[in-house]
Amino acid sequence: MVGDEIIANLLGGIYIKGIKQSRRLISTISNNEYPFDRIEEVAVNDETLEVFIPELNKARIKSGKYLWERYVDFLPFTRMSKEFSLGEGNTPLIQGNDYLQKFTGVKDLFLKNETQNPTWSFKDRGSLACIFMAKEMEEVVTATISTGNMGNSISAYGAKSGINVIVFVPEFTPIEKIKAMTIHGTKVIKVKAPDYSFMKKRILKLAKKLGLRIVSGNGPIRVEGYKLTAFELYEQMEGTVPDYITVPTSACGHIRGIFKGYRELKKAGFIDKLPKMIIVQAKNNSPIVSAIKEGKTQIQSFSNFTTIAEAITSGTPMGGNEIIHKAKEFNWLAEDVTEEEILESQKVLGKAGYFVEPAAATSVYAVKKLKQSGDIANDAKVLLMLTGSGLKDMEVFKEHSFDIMESNLHNIKVDLQQLLK
Ligand SMILES: *Cc1c(COP(=O)(O)O)cnc(C)c1O
Repeated sequence: MVGDEIIANLLGGIYIKGIKQSRRLISTISNNEYPFDRIEEVAVNDETLEVFIPELNKARIKSGKYLWERYVDFLPFTRMSKEFSLGEGNTPLIQGNDYLQKFTGVKDLFLKNETQNPTWSFKDRGSLACIFMAKEMEEVVTATISTGNMGNSISAYGAKSGINVIVFVPEFTPIEKIKAMTIHGTKVIKVKAPDYSFMKKRILKLAKKLGLRIVSGNGPIRVEGYKLTAFELYEQMEGTVPDYITVPTSACGHIRGIFKGYRELKKAGFIDKLPKMIIVQAKNNSPIVSAIKEGKTQIQSFSNFTTIAEAITSGTPMGGNEIIHKAKEFNWLAEDVTEEEILESQKVLGKAGYFVEPAAATSVYAVKKLKQSGDIANDAKVLLMLTGSGLKDMEVFKEHSFDIMESNLHNIKVDLQQLLK
């Protein structure tokens, strides 16, 4: 019960009761209410849900070592504890060097390096929130359906906090990724099914019947973890807000979370403007970006595509319609990038000192194109979210060419002299 004690000390029991009574989920387009402990992550009409945080006008930033301690007034959880943390967050915010500024054309460029999280992607911030929730609901098992970063992250956090993890994977999941989950003691179930989306639907239905919570990339609880990124940026940028935040987008949880954090900071009176988000997708799978470019209000489903940006392959993202809605309301930008552009972006970031996976690299080329087209102004401050590490995906190296110099002990002197010239 250490978690309870910490929060009791921070807040006093009365306020916890207040949160417990008023917290709820609301659907993001029609504003319908649902109970906070709802197992399904979407509304009855499939709209995305978000946590309603009461009394933001009274929210204050407290002192404390962890983000979730300082921003406790903005969070719905009552069982938060460092027991469940693996040291997520506190990732570097670094100014882009000359090379990156020249490549993108953006002078005021910053990179938020989320690859420095415990399982090498931003997913860890959301996984911590999912564990807070599981502890609060006294769940002993949590599950996800994943082929990659999400499964790895939930596996690590489950192991840290003594919660059993089940990950359902489709048959095509690479064995390296499965091994990385099982090292944490996760039960991986490889499900033979004709189609990944079909498999997801079937498992979600079954889980609901069994009372098993399946967390996915766009769930309202994860979003509460992702929004801490906005609070961290607020501190790192000393209360200022960037003009644009560029986010490679798939299920949409990350982009929603960051924006929700800024909206809440604004409601609480800490900032007076919101950043504009830049939605980035691979051209081969761009259900959201293509809809926005064509002025549509609903996602355009993609299937039977291939892209090297493996972490952004949601062809029918449940959160997509909300993002299209928000893009219009808040004047966001959207851009897609080709496979060649993704590979080049990965190389460019490598040359600037960052080794990211293809999905994470997409932002670089997207920003370059938006700057060229004049959508991003000359003096705009632009932030790139580097979402995941390059080491996770070595397959992509088949697509890159290398310049490796062959030598031997006899020739090495001459070769080296040649090189140093
Ligand atoms: C999950 C993931 C994304 C996409 O985030 P969503 O919340 O699904 O939109 C982008 N990049 C990487 C590396 C990821 O792991």
